[in-house]
Amino acid sequence: MTLLAIENLDVRHGQLLAVKDASIKVDKGEILALVGANGAGKSTLLRAIAGAHRQTSGRIVLESNDISDWQSFQRVKSGMSLVPEGRKLFQDLSVEENLVLGGVAGRKGMWTVDKIFETFPMLVKRRQAKAATLSGGEQQAAAIGRALMSNPDILMLDEISLGLSPAAVDLVYASLNNAKSGMTIVLVEQELSRAMNFATRIVCMLEGQFVLDRATRDLNRQEITAAYFGKQRSTH
Ligand code: ATP
Repeated sequence: MTLLAIENLDVRHGQLLAVKDASIKVDKGEILALVGANGAGKSTLLRAIAGAHRQTSGRIVLESNDISDWQSFQRVKSGMSLVPEGRKLFQDLSVEENLVLGGVAGRKGMWTVDKIFETFPMLVKRRQAKAATLSGGEQQAAAIGRALMSNPDILMLDEISLGLSPAAVDLVYASLNNAKSGMTIVLVEQELSRAMNFATRIVCMLEGQFVLDRATRDLNRQEITAAYFGKQRSTH
């Protein structure tokens, strides 16, 4: 069953058309990794879906609602949550306070402050620490926890590995693996092996368009790399 549908989406940064006529459907329970070279349009697409950057044309449909003109906060209330690139925590607030703020949309579900600490054990000792004092990995975990606090139907994550040590990325993914059960996830991930290990479906973007869209089990690394560099166009 389709949870999210993007239809003929164009998204601009001024004169630059960063996402071009993009259409895609994401089913409930899918874990989709968006991959592609720097500047391919992945973050712009996620931000447009979350309502942080308005599309020029096209539609975004969540379940049966056309949310194209909705504010971000309305989208969160309807079950969409974004972990933005750079985490964007409230630096002067504690981890716990950041989490509580993540829950203000008031959606009911399994995620509570205690459940977040259970799922992200690395945060337990840092509960009262200000976000600014956390390590990169802890900040990323707190940002994911904050997004989960709105009990989303679809969780979107933008480059959670960025700037973290491999060990910290391992920890973040291990926690995310515990959290993902039943959830629909769209993540932007630069590291192909991480994307392939985590996602059930890989979608590659090149110059604002989808050039590969396939189940992970039907793909190998070479095919994805070829799509990265525009050597292949296949969405089947
Ligand atoms: P990266 O992995 O580098 O974040 P990306 O695939 O997420 O790449 P985007 O960040 O969406 O790509 O960028 C798509 C295009 O839009 C690029 O050409 C980029 O330079 C441009 N762009 C992104 N953000 C802005 C902005 N705030 N103002 C102007 N141009 C932008």
